[in-house]
Amino acid sequence: MRYDDLIRNNIKSMVPYVSARETFEGDADVLLDANEMPFAHSFNRYPDPKQKDLKAAVASYKNCKASQIFFGNGSDDIIDILIRTFCEPKKDSVYYFTPGFGMYKVAAQLNDVAYHSMSLDQDFSFDERAFVEGVKEQDKLVFLCSPNNPTANYIDISKLEFVISKFNGITVVDEAYIDFTDMPSCMTLLEKYDRLVVLQTFSKAFGAAGIRLGMGFMHPELVELLNRVKMPYNISVSTQEEAFRILEHPDRIKSNLQFIKDQKLHLIDRLNELDLVLQIHPSDTNFFLAKFEKPKAVYKYLTNQGIIVRDRSSLALCEGCLRVTVGTEEENERLINVLKQYS
Ligand SMILES: *Cc1c(COP(=O)(O)O)cnc(C)c1O
Repeated sequence: MRYDDLIRNNIKSMVPYVSARETFEGDADVLLDANEMPFAHSFNRYPDPKQKDLKAAVASYKNCKASQIFFGNGSDDIIDILIRTFCEPKKDSVYYFTPGFGMYKVAAQLNDVAYHSMSLDQDFSFDERAFVEGVKEQDKLVFLCSPNNPTANYIDISKLEFVISKFNGITVVDEAYIDFTDMPSCMTLLEKYDRLVVLQTFSKAFGAAGIRLGMGFMHPELVELLNRVKMPYNISVSTQEEAFRILEHPDRIKSNLQFIKDQKLHLIDRLNELDLVLQIHPSDTNFFLAKFEKPKAVYKYLTNQGIIVRDRSSLALCEGCLRVTVGTEEENERLINVLKQYS
């Protein structure tokens, strides 16, 4: 098999659980196979374990093949499943850059898998050659995040492709914020690299963090492999239905994105007028890093006013920075006015 040299032996040799709904194809209308209650309402049946209809809808929206899609209970769940599929606890490791998304490390720790990282440059970019030189023998997964959280910058796709092309394990490019920028997605590289996973999510641009739906795009054989590891009915009926409804209104997604982009520019302009704000880093996402002289004091002041932002000031390279998510017009105005009154 294509990934034989990478997957854990126990995953290779296990016989996956076969759910009741997977054992037949076709149009049966008497379903007595899954110990469900027969009284018809929205939720009496188990969900489709392979999410066939939703995959078709996402494939047409994202311009890829349905066979290239894997869904998780949020992309956090896919990160965990990838680690459990490829990394032998106490033996293998994962590699990523910092500052970055906290879940790569947490998922590694949770699975007793080692991790190590390389720092981004001062400008939040990274030296792709140095990064590849830092790869260790035991690294099975590399996580790259673009646009990156919490730094908010898009990272040049040629740098990402360099890593994808050199790394022998699986390179995961986390694109949770890709819809907020016009720069190219690594989805365009899927046909070229069978060891690439692109993660996107319904939580950000699609505005549906509550339904918990993460999307992984990858080679169909890799999807098959992850299907062995995932819980059989991992995406609920209500999640699949709501995701379907969201994709039926691409115009709504577009106008929401435009609104956030406009509000972000406005918010950044207003905040830049305040002496209190030392710097605002460029942003390709729906949030930005704002630098303050006394970030902890500003954070505390804001919480006292009922406004919560994310304190990232103790992270290396993010010294002094609070991470601010763009909200509604009213929320953004309140933030501006409250900061104006800070003394
Ligand atoms: C928000 C975010 C996610 C999304 O996680 P979900 O589990 O899909 O909600 C993934 N990666 C990054 C970098 C994020 O900031």
